[in-house]
Amino acid sequence: MSGANGKREVELTLPIGYTDQEGRLHRSFVMRKMTGKEEAILADRRNQRNGGRLITELLHSCMIQMGDMPKNGTGPIAGLYSADRNYLLIKLRSITFGSELQAEYSCPACGEGMRVTEDLDELPVRELADGDSAEEIKVELEDGYVDRDGSVHTALILRLPTGADEEAVAPQMRQNASLGKNALLARCIKSLGDLPKHRLEALGPKILSDLTMTDRRLIDRALNQGAPGIDLVREYECPNCGHVFKSTLDLTHFLALE
Ligand SMILES: [Zn+2]
Repeated sequence: MSGANGKREVELTLPIGYTDQEGRLHRSFVMRKMTGKEEAILADRRNQRNGGRLITELLHSCMIQMGDMPKNGTGPIAGLYSADRNYLLIKLRSITFGSELQAEYSCPACGEGMRVTEDLDELPVRELADGDSAEEIKVELEDGYVDRDGSVHTALILRLPTGADEEAVAPQMRQNASLGKNALLARCIKSLGDLPKHRLEALGPKILSDLTMTDRRLIDRALNQGAPGIDLVREYECPNCGHVFKSTLDLTHFLALE
């Protein structure tokens, strides 16, 4: 029971929080440990086909209290930003099985494999900074999107993705991670230059596939660098050759029911 504190319930503060229809922000959530009920959710084939749906079901099942809201269906869980959902998921793993996680990496320089014990409770958590909005992230594209009349649009405004976005694009994501990402980002575009709303919606993921890789990288940076949530980028030093490299936390054995 390494790391587990023996408490069945834990109160957590979301990095961003959920804004309800009256505009009130809810950030203090109470969750309980996973039980046999959640083991059945994890094993359900219908959930395994849609990772977003699985996370929604899992978090909903373990949720005791969401701010001051009455517990009412899976809607608010799907409505949470992905950053908050991932935070809750990591905490859920930590309170249920303990905070230690065995992860495996291979050195990009020499190929040497290494095993690392991560402490999930020690991962840095970044809260949404004062004055920042999860609903309005501005990116100035370098090359821009070229419309059919030849006009170039460079001022892009996006919001952060939510669980509902994850659920909607799961089929595309399963077929092709890059196309899945285009579909996800297309859902998050709020405006692009002066393209009218209906045109944005008609173009959808096509906008993303037409952007240069320079611009796609700018979008990645805007969404990930300094973004709220748990920072999953880890830095390691290879014990064999001394090379220092960065890698995203290996979550392969994350919810393994050993
Ligand atoms: Zn190495």
